[in-house]
Amino acid sequence: MTKHNVLIVKENILLSEYTTIKLGGAAKYFIECDSEDSVKDALKFAKEKKCRLQVLAGGSNIVFSDEGFDGLILKMSIKVVSLTKSKESCFITSGAGEIWDDFVKFSIENEFTGAECLSGIPGSVGATPVQNVGAYGQEVSEIIHSLKAIDKESLEVINFSGEECRFGYRDSRFKSADKDKYIILEVVFKMNANKEPEIRYPELKNYLESLEKFSALSDRKEKLNFIRNAVLTLRQKKSMIIDSNDPNSVSCGSFFTNPVLDVPEFEEFRTKCEVMKLSPPFYKTTMSGIERMKIPAAWLVEQSGFVKGFKAKGAGISSSHSLAIINTGGKTSDVLSLSGEIMRKVKEKFGITLTPEPVIVK
Ligand SMILES: Cc1cc2nc3c(=O)[nH]c(=O)nc-3n(C[C@H](O)[C@H](O)[C@H](O)COP(=O)(O)OP(=O)(O)OC[C@H]3O[C@@H](n4cnc5c(N)ncnc54)[C@H](O)[C@@H]3O)c2cc1C
Repeated sequence: MTKHNVLIVKENILLSEYTTIKLGGAAKYFIECDSEDSVKDALKFAKEKKCRLQVLAGGSNIVFSDEGFDGLILKMSIKVVSLTKSKESCFITSGAGEIWDDFVKFSIENEFTGAECLSGIPGSVGATPVQNVGAYGQEVSEIIHSLKAIDKESLEVINFSGEECRFGYRDSRFKSADKDKYIILEVVFKMNANKEPEIRYPELKNYLESLEKFSALSDRKEKLNFIRNAVLTLRQKKSMIIDSNDPNSVSCGSFFTNPVLDVPEFEEFRTKCEVMKLSPPFYKTTMSGIERMKIPAAWLVEQSGFVKGFKAKGAGISSSHSLAIINTGGKTSDVLSLSGEIMRKVKEKFGITLTPEPVIVK
C-alpha cells in the first residue's frame, strides 16, 4: 500500500471480493474515493501512471476477467444524503456511493412514492442511472431529477437533467454513447410526498391482491412498506436478493436484457415459433413513439435448452431464475463460455441476438 498525496493506493487487490458473482483476478491499483476531490485525485493518478481506470461501486452488475485489471479501480464511496421539501415534491440528493436499498428505505420512511418497487436491488445509488435500473413496473428514470458527474478526461463537473441522461430500457447515455466518459458523483431524485403508490406489474398486483390486509390499508407509509415487503418476498423466491446463504444469488442478477423487436422482426420471430409449434409470450411497448414487442429473455433461454439448475463447468443457471447465470465455484471464463453458448443457441433457434446486461470488463 502506498500513499499518493492524501490518496491511499492499494495494489494487487482481488476483485472477486468486490463483486456479487465473486469473480475477477487482481487489480493493479485500487483507490476508494469518498469525495469529489478524491475522485479528481484518482483520475490524476491514473493519468500519471498512464493506466486505464474502471469505476466500481457495489459490484453487482460487473464481470471482471480471471486475469484481473491492469489499471486503476476507482471504488465509489461518496456518501451523504440531503433532503429539500416543498409543498408538492421533495428533492433528495444522494452521494453516488450510498447503498441503493438504504435510499429506498429512507424514501419510504419519509413517505415518498416512486422507489418502493425497486426495493432489494443490490448496488449503489450512483450506478442506478447507468442502466436505468428497473423492476416490478418501476424504473429509476421516473424519479431522477438530475445528476452531477465528472468528465474523466477534462475533470469538468457537469450537471445533467433527467432528460439529458437519455434514459431507455436498461440504458442511458452513460451505458451507450458516453460509456466510460463520466463518473457520477451524486444523484438528485424528485419524489412525490402526496402520491398514492401505483401497482403496474401483474405479478406484484396479483400477489398483493392475494393478501387481504393490503386492500384494508389506508395509511400511505404502511402501504409503501407493505409493497416493499411484497417485492422483497417475490425477489427472495427468485434469489434476486443477495443472501450469503443462497448459492443462487452468486450472480449479477439477470444476465440478459429482454430483446425488444420492431414489428417486422417480431413477425419473422413469430413465424419461426409457429413452425416449431411454440407460442411465445410478449409485451407491447412504445419506444421513441414506435410500437415494439418485448420478448422475455428467460423464455428464449429456457426454450433453447438452458433450464433452471443447468450446470456447465464452474457456472450454471440459478435453480430459481433462468435468467441468472451463477458462479458455482468456477472462473469468469466458465461464466462467459456459458453465456456465449446461450447466446449462440438462442440466435440459432430464434434468430435473436441476446444482449448481456452486466458490464464485462476485458
Ligand atoms: C441478485 C441481483 C439482482 C438484481 N436485480 C436487478 C433488478 O431487479 N433490476 C436491475 O435493473 N438490476 C438488477 N441487478 C443489477 C445491479 O444490481 C444494478 O445494475 C445496480 O444498479 C448495479 O449497481 P452497482 O453499484 O453494484 O454497480 P457496479 O456493478 O459496481 O457497476 C456497474 C456499472 O456501472 C458503472 N458505475 C457504477 N457506479 C458508477 C458511477 N458512480 N459513475 C459512473 N459509472 C458507475 C460501473 O463502472 C460499471 O460499468 C441485480 C443484480 C443482482 C446481483
